[in-house]
Amino acid sequence: MMMHKRNEGPQRTCVGCMRRDSQSRMLRIAAQANSLTLDEDRRMPGRGAYLHHNNGCITDFVHRRIRELRSLRRKPSFDERQKLAELIHARLDSSAALK
Ligand SMILES: [Zn+2]
Repeated sequence: MMMHKRNEGPQRTCVGCMRRDSQSRMLRIAAQANSLTLDEDRRMPGRGAYLHHNNGCITDFVHRRIRELRSLRRKPSFDERQKLAELIHARLDSSAALK
């Protein structure tokens, strides 16, 4: 378990485990008209949510019975969430980000 350190920039709530953590340890998800996408450069306009880069949080986010996400102002469907998870896995499988 990692100790909580200060001075790591803004804190955000992970939509997988729902814990607050440094934004730098999370991926940004951007809400588009009818889908969710991975905002790798964190520059997409509009609403965004944050998710840790680990399989546990990604899986929790897909399978959680969610209410509306305040950060996105809507409730993404299971399909939208599953597609996002596939997108994240496709991008990250080749990197060392997944632990
Ligand atoms: Zn998390």
